[in-house]
Amino acid sequence: MKAFQLLEPGVAELVDVEVPEPGPGEVLLKVAGAGVCHSDLHILHADAWQPLPMTIGHEVSGHVAAVGTGVTGWDEGAGALAYLCWGCGKCRTCAAGFENYCEAFGRGIVPGPGLGYQGCMAEYVLVLARFLVPLGDLDPVDAAPLTDAGLTPYHAVNMAREALVAKSTAVVIGVGGLGHMGVQILAATTGARVIAVDLDKAKLAHAAELGAAETVVSDERAAARILDLTHGRGAEAVFDFVGAQPTLGLAASVIAPHGRIVVVGLGEGTLPFTATSPPAALPWGAGVVKPYGGTRADLHDVLALAQRGAISVTVERHPLAEAKETFELLQLGKVAGRAVLVP
Ligand code: NAD
Ligand code: ZN
Ligand code: ZN
Repeated sequence: MKAFQLLEPGVAELVDVEVPEPGPGEVLLKVAGAGVCHSDLHILHADAWQPLPMTIGHEVSGHVAAVGTGVTGWDEGAGALAYLCWGCGKCRTCAAGFENYCEAFGRGIVPGPGLGYQGCMAEYVLVLARFLVPLGDLDPVDAAPLTDAGLTPYHAVNMAREALVAKSTAVVIGVGGLGHMGVQILAATTGARVIAVDLDKAKLAHAAELGAAETVVSDERAAARILDLTHGRGAEAVFDFVGAQPTLGLAASVIAPHGRIVVVGLGEGTLPFTATSPPAALPWGAGVVKPYGGTRADLHDVLALAQRGAISVTVERHPLAEAKETFELLQLGKVAGRAVLVP
C-alpha cells in the first residue's frame, strides 16, 4: 500500500509498504480520510523523537477491513473514527477519562497514530479496537478532522467553560483548522460572544460566517481593539491556536481579571509572568492552561454536535498522492479549514 512516511527529520515521502496485519485486539481500518494538522508540520521538522520510518497522520476515519483475535463488536465494513490519545487504560488518570494525560507517559506526550505509532496517511492503519468510535451517518472523509481539529478545541473550551457565561467574551486567535472549529464549538455550546483573530482576512471572513460576532486582524492594534470591544476589561477566555510570541503577548494583554488563557498552539512563544502588585503581565485571578487533545468523552460530544449539524468541518479534499504538496499549502497558510488526504 502507499503510505506517506517520515523517513528522517525534515524528509517525508510517499512510499510502498506492506498492508499491516491486525494483531490481538487490533482492527485494520481502510482509511477514508486523513486530516492534515499543523502538528504534522511540527512533526516533519522536529528532531527525531520516535522510531522512523513512521507514517504521518493522526486524524483518522475509515472502515473496518479486518479484525485481530479477541475483537468483538466491529464488523467488516463498519465506519469508525480513531480516538487520538492512546493512553494505557489502566492508570487512575485514564480511569477518570483523561487518557490524554495518561500517567504511563510521565511528563511526555501520550502517543497515538502518527504520533509514535504508524499513522493514517496511508491506505490502511491499525488501531486498537478500544480506541475506535462509531462514525454513524457522518461523511467518512469530512469527519476525519473531528478526531483532533474538533476534539482539541472542544477540550480547550471545557477548560474555560465556567467563565463562558452569557455576555462573556471569548477570543479565538488563529482560525485555521482547529480555530474554525473552536469558533463553532463556542457558538454552539457556550453563552460567549466570540471575537476571532487571524492574520488572514479570508479566514476571518470564514470565522464570521461560522459564528464569530467580531473579527480582528492580528497586528499591533489588535489588543486595543479587543479591549475596546470589551469596555476595557478584556475577554473572559482567550484560546490561542498559534502559541507564537505575538499571540501569547496578545492573550496576556486582553485576558480579563479571573479569565483563562488556553494555549493550544505550539508556536514556541513565551508567556510573560511577573509576580508583582498590581500584576504587571497577567491581571488578578487570571490563569493559563495548556491542554493536549481531549478525552474520549469529549470525542463523543464532538460527534454528537456534528451529527446534529451544530458544527461542521470546512474540508478541502486532496489525493494522498499529493500529500507533499498539501503540506506545502498548509505551511503557506493556503488551506481553507482543514485539508483531508483521500487514499
Ligand atoms: P492551521 O495552520 O490550520 O491554522 C493556524 C491559523 O493561525 C491560520 O489561520 C493562520 O493564518 C493563523 N495564524 C498564524 N499566525 C498568526 C498570528 N500571528 N496571529 C493570528 N493568527 C495567526 O493550524 P492548526 O492545524 O489549526 O493547528 C494550530 C496549532 O495547534 C498548531 O501549532 C498545532 O501544532 C497545534 N495543535 C495543538 C494540539 C494540542 O493538543 N495542544 C492539537 C492539535 C494542534
Ligand atoms: Zn493534530
Ligand atoms: Zn493511563
